[in-house]
Amino acid sequence: MFKKKLRGGVHPSTHKELSNTAKIRRFPLSDRLYVSMQQHLGAPATPVVKVGQTVGKGQLLGASQGAISAPVHAPTSGKITAIAEHTAPHPSGLPVLAVTLEPDGRDQWEENPPVVDPFKLAPEEICTRVGAAGIVGLGGATFPAAVKLGNSLKTGVETLILNGGECEPYLTCDDRLMREHSAAIIQGALLMQQAVQAKNVIIGIEDNKPEALEKMLHAAAGSGIQVASVPSRYPMGSEKQLVQQLTGKEIPARSRAADSGLVVHNVATARAVYQALFENRPLISRIVTLSGQALTHQGNWEVPLGTLASQLINYASGFDATPARLIMGGPMMGIQLPDLHVPVIKGTSGILALTSDEINTREPEPCVRCASCVRACPMGLLPLEMAASIRAGDLEAASKLGLGDCVGCGACSYICPASLPLVHLFNYAKGELAQSHRDAEKRERTKILARRREERLERQAREKEALMAARRAAAAKKAAAEESSS
Ligand code: SF4
Ligand code: SF4
Repeated sequence: MFKKKLRGGVHPSTHKELSNTAKIRRFPLSDRLYVSMQQHLGAPATPVVKVGQTVGKGQLLGASQGAISAPVHAPTSGKITAIAEHTAPHPSGLPVLAVTLEPDGRDQWEENPPVVDPFKLAPEEICTRVGAAGIVGLGGATFPAAVKLGNSLKTGVETLILNGGECEPYLTCDDRLMREHSAAIIQGALLMQQAVQAKNVIIGIEDNKPEALEKMLHAAAGSGIQVASVPSRYPMGSEKQLVQQLTGKEIPARSRAADSGLVVHNVATARAVYQALFENRPLISRIVTLSGQALTHQGNWEVPLGTLASQLINYASGFDATPARLIMGGPMMGIQLPDLHVPVIKGTSGILALTSDEINTREPEPCVRCASCVRACPMGLLPLEMAASIRAGDLEAASKLGLGDCVGCGACSYICPASLPLVHLFNYAKGELAQSHRDAEKRERTKILARRREERLERQAREKEALMAARRAAAAKKAAAEESSS
């Protein structure tokens, strides 16, 4: 492992001990599942089932649309009772289309073709099967895994890195997964290596997970896969930090790991690849950490997708105290939930119910220009300057200061003694800039269409004029001929 000094980072209290001691438990089927058609980055899936239809476990419910999308499958067998909008775990709180499935209790798989030895498959076929299984980045990014693998195969990568960092406080789903399913992760990693034809595979695990490290080292023995411990420091799980720590390569600003011959996937994604190719099992459940002091019992559960957060908490834990904040994901980068009527989706790494003692409730104060945020930023940005530009309404200036390189880790907000909501400002500004770029693109497209229409109308007018002139000439010629013959 490279000991090169890493830029920035913070050391928040991890609170991992709340949930990392007990084994993963399987969550029972709820009486109704709300399977969202938008569980990934990119275009939402389109429902391919009808209300009243019965489906088998693993059957396709929604087909992927376009180049960046992912299909969605039935978490169990049962009957489709509705296809309608439902609250989505998204900061906007806007609803998305969801298929409501009433389990029949049989948990019966749909007919599946027999499993062939996946290591005999061509790289392209592995990518195709990963895509068909609806696998997305399970570290929270939810980018369709097949697209990432396929792009890596096309451009060529030297090293596949598996991210077992799990640097977000409270979350322990990857820790438990590595302790309990290390062999499946290694097999999945080898399949992903075959898919992208990478020479090396390195798995990076933070050194605050010694049991996971030991299990993974044991499972990887003889496989050619390297397992390395990395220092516990937030945000070690971010792609650029992990790559630099493991390979010594610094990914330049505004470029991706792939541009440096690397591709990074999460350890849970590798396990999903194993399940898809060895067991013909699409992505229909995931491990979710339940944590926070407001809960009676914390722990990790394998949860069918579409289970409501409220059902999960009521059955698995219940509240010990009134939660001051509900979060889906980790406290640094997760989404604050308005309520618990949202379903678990592919990106739900955790559901946290935090008491007021666990969150910062101080009112923001003026910036004291201490530069703590600058020292904490892993991307070498100037958060205080970017925030000042955004507050002044100059988003382009913030963009010139490197807003596009901000990974939204929240290290600056965490360290700020003035409790300034820096990362919220950056997320807001990124959203506004993305919208204005989309609007500009739309205006440009409209302009091009208008210009083409104008050109077409002018061409049609010219053609019409030429036709009329030809007719006039023909009529004149005919008249002259008649005149001369009479
Ligand atoms: S950490 Fe907060 S108070 Fe200090 S310079 Fe940055 S924004 Fe200002
Ligand atoms: S949220 Fe952005 S600006 Fe703040 S520390 Fe992380 S990368 Fe830097």
